[in-house]
Amino acid sequence: MPAKGDTFAEARQRMVQEQIAARGVRDPRVLEAMRSVPRHLFVPDEYREWAYSDGPLPIGVGQTISQPYIVALMTELLEIPPKGARVLEIGTGSGYQTAVLAHLADEVFTIERHAALAAQANARLHRLGLDNVHVRVGDGTLGWPEHAPYDGILVTAAAPEMPPALLEQVRIGGRIVIPIGRRGGQTLECWTRREDDFERQAIIPVAFVPLVGEQGWSAG
Ligand code: SAM
Repeated sequence: MPAKGDTFAEARQRMVQEQIAARGVRDPRVLEAMRSVPRHLFVPDEYREWAYSDGPLPIGVGQTISQPYIVALMTELLEIPPKGARVLEIGTGSGYQTAVLAHLADEVFTIERHAALAAQANARLHRLGLDNVHVRVGDGTLGWPEHAPYDGILVTAAAPEMPPALLEQVRIGGRIVIPIGRRGGQTLECWTRREDDFERQAIIPVAFVPLVGEQGWSAG
């Protein structure tokens, strides 16, 4: 009988093949990261057997870990440069997306508004030896200007509109991937910074939990 760890490894390979590559994610670095990160270590114990299923799962305080395909798609859209990249993530949640980014970027800065989630995620990421990650508790709608400009900014909660602070913190040629729209449903968008403006691209319809903060939704 295979050990439990082996069972998860098989499930993870299937997840990448059937949910991610089959839907068109092609970047080999993204597929490799998705094959490597043990998603079952980022979900609450009671959901462990569903860790590689094709959907989001609850992680506490009304928040979710995103569907694996969406994590892979958003990561691919960022087009993280192969060397020396610095990435900002807004909405650490479980830390799963952070771990995927940490396989592709030299440094990942991530902000979570719920202190309990940030603490858990930080512990998981360090247990996995991902020491290129910096976790902070705070309002991510304001970004993390001390380490800007970033090669990419990934927002994993839904904004009513693009937070202006983030526009100032991405480098020219860099990308911001963000769900924008109503509380119930949004469009995943990819904004690329050009010399004088941003090129804005609509990707697919999505449904994320709200981005709550000074340049996002109000709480409640
Ligand atoms: N990327 C996460 C993962 O892999 O588990 C999933 C994130 S979950 C869909 C969205 C997260 O954004 C929640 O944990 C929520 O608390 C957080 N969030 C919402 N508004 C925020 C804000 N202004 N700043 C930082 N985090 C925020």
